[in-house]
Amino acid sequence: MKGAGRIHSAGPWTTELEARYAAEAAQFGWYGRYKEFVDRFETGMAAYVGVRHGHATPHGTHALHLALAALGIGPGDEVIVPEITWVASANAVLYLGAKVVVVDVEASTWCIDPDAVERAITPATRAIMPVHAYGNPCDMDRLGDIASKHGLFVVEDACPAVGSTYHGRMCGSFGDAAAHSYQGSKLLVTGEGGMMLTNGDALSERAAKLASQGRDDAEGTFWCSELGFQYSMSNVAAAVGLAQLERVEELVAAKRRIFQWYADRLADVPGVTMIWERDGCRSNYSYPSCAFSEDLPATRDDVRRALSGAGIDTRPVFPRISRFPHLTDADTPVAARVERTGLNLPGPYNLTEADADRVVAVVRATLSRRG
Ligand SMILES: *Cc1c(COP(=O)(O)O)cnc(C)c1O
Repeated sequence: MKGAGRIHSAGPWTTELEARYAAEAAQFGWYGRYKEFVDRFETGMAAYVGVRHGHATPHGTHALHLALAALGIGPGDEVIVPEITWVASANAVLYLGAKVVVVDVEASTWCIDPDAVERAITPATRAIMPVHAYGNPCDMDRLGDIASKHGLFVVEDACPAVGSTYHGRMCGSFGDAAAHSYQGSKLLVTGEGGMMLTNGDALSERAAKLASQGRDDAEGTFWCSELGFQYSMSNVAAAVGLAQLERVEELVAAKRRIFQWYADRLADVPGVTMIWERDGCRSNYSYPSCAFSEDLPATRDDVRRALSGAGIDTRPVFPRISRFPHLTDADTPVAARVERTGLNLPGPYNLTEADADRVVAVVRATLSRRG
């Protein structure tokens, strides 16, 4: 691999603007300005998504937890979560003592399957958690119909879906509440970070109280009237996020360009399917994804090994969460196939078109090997 640097699986795009805002926060973001960037980031992100309130948190996981807690999810409640997601979606439910009910996904988008959701509803079901898998929007119309028919909350795990839209509307604006993540591999980064988003005024107030240790200053200074959490974002992190937010459409465009490079180059490779955005939707394509058919001379894992040997990092699809020892088994045949055959191709912002050539050359060479 002489002359060719390692290709990372993910990584952000930061500029002078992020550095300038972060420096400003580090130097001046104290005293009367101690949360100025947090306020601007929350207001700006809520406006971008099209909701009234944003609460910045230390991670996306906290945003999910906060949303569920503010909705009053707890012991005895069931929350429906898809198989193909990062474990954070399920853990946020478990932290509250509620039960995770795992359901299958759609083969074409890897998003939660509305039919499977309907079949999983019981009298104990309180909420559905659609996960916009790797940035691909879920079927929000059907999920919304199911939720209103059965009186369920919708908590969108939009952690990987900043900038993704469903029929022109931003992911994160459909549910009773939603969560973003700004961790380093996501579309928009703050280092580590997240945000709970909601249109509900009362829910937002409830979340703000829970996110500051249950403090109730109206009752007395430092008075805490219940058990809460300490879930705020650092002003310096928010400064980075605000700069990224001012560039967000440029970030989405860059990720979509990378996806298209792969799609163009893999179009004529039999047995490799790109995971395209749902019709009428915009995926942020933050993790360019494909699936390998199982009758090829090489498996997904063979391809990963060959890429790794060529200095190229990739990510297999997340393991099905129901297989983890702290979760309950589920019968999810579609997700099982996605788990075996799905791959996130490298999608870092520093990826060049020549890098995409390099990746695809290895994929082609591996698949054309004879058994
Ligand atoms: C990234 C991610 C999370 C959690 O984000 P953190 O900021 O790492 O806590 C949750 N769900 C999904 C689907 C994610 O991709």
